[in-house]
Amino acid sequence: MLLVMSGIIFGTVSLEGKVALITGGASGIGEATAKIFTRHGARVMIADVQDDKGRAFCESLGSSVASYIHCDMTDESHVRDAVDAAVSRHGKLDIMFNNAGIAGSLCMQIRKSEKADFERVVGINLVGSYLGTKHAARVMIPARRGSIVMTASVASVVPGMASAAYTCSKHGMVGLMRSAALELGQFGVRVNCVSPYGVATPMTTAGFGMGVEELEEFFHEHAILKGVRLKAEDVAEAVLFLGSEEAKYVSGVNLLVDGGLTITNPSHG
Ligand code: NAD
Repeated sequence: MLLVMSGIIFGTVSLEGKVALITGGASGIGEATAKIFTRHGARVMIADVQDDKGRAFCESLGSSVASYIHCDMTDESHVRDAVDAAVSRHGKLDIMFNNAGIAGSLCMQIRKSEKADFERVVGINLVGSYLGTKHAARVMIPARRGSIVMTASVASVVPGMASAAYTCSKHGMVGLMRSAALELGQFGVRVNCVSPYGVATPMTTAGFGMGVEELEEFFHEHAILKGVRLKAEDVAEAVLFLGSEEAKYVSGVNLLVDGGLTITNPSHG
C-alpha cells in the first residue's frame, strides 16, 4: 500500500496499529526511530533516564501517539514496569527496541581500564538489553508475535573501534540476539540487531569532544562508502524494516549499517 500524507509519500512499509517500546528514545538513534515509527503509524512509548528531554520529545510527537516512562535499564523492576506500561496503555507490545546505551570510557587499553567502567558499560548495554528482551518476550509469547530489535554496533563485529568494555557489550548483544531468536522463534517472535557505524549523536559528540559537523567529517574520512554521511535516520530506517511485517521471515540477523566498513581487508589502501 502506498500512503500519501501531507504531500509525503511513504513506501510499502507500514507500522499502522503497531505499538513499540523504545529504550533510549529521548536522544539520537532512538529519537530518530520514534519519529519514523510514528510517521509510519505506530504508537510509541519512550523509556529513558533523561526525563525532561524524553517528556518534551513525546509532547512534540503528540500525546495520542507517544508517551514517556522513566526507566533505568540496569533496574529490572523499571524494565518490567516499562513493558507493562506499554501494554496497559496500548493493549499490546509489537516491537521492542533495545537501544539504550553508553560508550563509557574511551580508554582503549584493557590493562589501563577500570573494572567499574567495564561493569557499567556491560550493565547498561548488554544486561539492559537482556532485561528488555526477557520482559518483552513475557508479553509477546502469549500474543504469538513480536519483533525485538537491538542496537549493537560495528563494535559487535570488530574490535578496536571502541573500548574493550563497549566491544564486549556489543559482541555480547549479538550472542543475546541469536540466543533469543533461537528460543523465541517457536512463539512467532523475531529477534534481530542493527549495527551502525559512527553517527553524530550526543553519545559520540560528547565522547569524541567534537561538534556534529566535525564528527561527521571524521567518520566520513574513515568510512569505506564515500559521499554520504550516516545519520540517525538511516539507522532508524533499518530498525523500521526489522520491526515491520516486511521483515516477517527475518530473524537472528545482525544487520550492519556500516557502508561496508567491517568487510575491510587490512591490505585495502
Ligand atoms: P544517545 O546518547 O543519543 O542516546 C542514548 C540514549 O540512551 C540516551 O537518551 C540516554 O539517556 C539513554 N540511556 C543511557 N543510559 C541509560 C539507562 N541506564 N537506562 C535507560 N536509558 C539510558 O546515543 P546514540 O548514539 O543514539 O546511541 C543509541 C545506541 O546506538 C546505543 O546503544 C549505542 O551504543 C548505539 N550505537 C551508536 C553509534 C553512534 O555512532 N552513535 C554507533 C553504533 C551503535
